[in-house]
Amino acid sequence: MSEPEDASVAPARGRKPPLLGIAVVLLFVLALFVLERWRAAGEGAQGEDEVVRAARPLMGTFFSVEIFFGGRERTQAQRAAGAALDLAARLEERISEWREDSETSALNRGAGGAPLALSADLLELITVSLDWARRTDGAFDVTGGPLFELWEAAREQGRLPDAAEVQARRDLTGCDKLHVADGSARLERPGMKLGFGAIGKGFAADRMAAFLRAGGWRDFIVDAGGNLVLAGARGARPWNIAVRHPREAAPFATCRATDCAVATSGDYERFFEANGVRYSHIIDPRTGWPARGLAGVTVFARSGIDADALSTALFVMGLEPGLAFAETQEGVEAVFLAEDGAARLTSGLRLENGELLLPLSPCAAPAEAGQPR
Ligand code: AMP
Ligand code: MG
Repeated sequence: MSEPEDASVAPARGRKPPLLGIAVVLLFVLALFVLERWRAAGEGAQGEDEVVRAARPLMGTFFSVEIFFGGRERTQAQRAAGAALDLAARLEERISEWREDSETSALNRGAGGAPLALSADLLELITVSLDWARRTDGAFDVTGGPLFELWEAAREQGRLPDAAEVQARRDLTGCDKLHVADGSARLERPGMKLGFGAIGKGFAADRMAAFLRAGGWRDFIVDAGGNLVLAGARGARPWNIAVRHPREAAPFATCRATDCAVATSGDYERFFEANGVRYSHIIDPRTGWPARGLAGVTVFARSGIDADALSTALFVMGLEPGLAFAETQEGVEAVFLAEDGAARLTSGLRLENGELLLPLSPCAAPAEAGQPR
């Protein structure tokens, strides 16, 4: 009995030192791995911690500001986020056509009369709006106010307006009847109305972002009712946003982006149905009727004002003309989701496993180490 035991024990004793060594090395590697995970988790939690968020109802929707304040005071960041929202509130007072006391309402009330001297804010908003009207051949048109009102009333009443009503309103629209000169503007005919619902939020988002940058903030997201301006990153990782699916609760895609603006126009926000047709709040000024064919358009651009105007314009243009137009615009990428469920992307975008990648865009997020883009 002893012999075989000894025989079996002796060789085992002989291997003991190397086995122990391997175990020690394995334990060391395991400890390193656990430590690394713990460090990474700590960093993640710290990143989360170093973000402040403020939100407020503005311009008929919800605005929010998130700031990553790494290395600066939380209270300072909180104050900056609040002040950016205050700035948007002041802009709303000035430009909203829904506020009786706004400059836009004064201009609308004076339609058919003498020119009105404008503030620099409204002058800039009108100038950019006219530029987009020209570039989109009238698909984007802030003089469509009478039509927007008509279709808003139709939605509230759940009935289609008659053709004569639509035509009468069309006669009151057109950028050729909006005159801007020497810091003043004039609407040619009584009853004309400007409406900035398709561009005002992007304009506000840019102003809020400029305000934050002037305060030295480099990492933030301004969300003006779905019109985003993204800057920098959320600590160690890029901002991650979701592109909404117009028909499903789950997002169409996620996207890591930085230093760009993103806006979405969709037929799901305000719409009504008549005779089995969905009528959205986005109007084709060239027909006077709601645009058809697309369910949603998301635009990536360099500024909030351009992203906002373009998302509306591309929605009006429809899938093929919109896609072709977007391809001609420098620094612009877009996702088109058609009513029939088809999805199309401009050539600078890729969709991989539910993630939108912006490899060619000027607003592409830097790739994370080890992750091909
Ligand atoms: P958005 O959600 O940015 O696409 O803007 C839609 C809002 O802009 C509508 O509720 C209208 O007030 C206004 N609007 C609708 N159609 C147009 C258009 N073709 N051009 C400019 N503004 C529009
Ligand atoms: Mg818009």
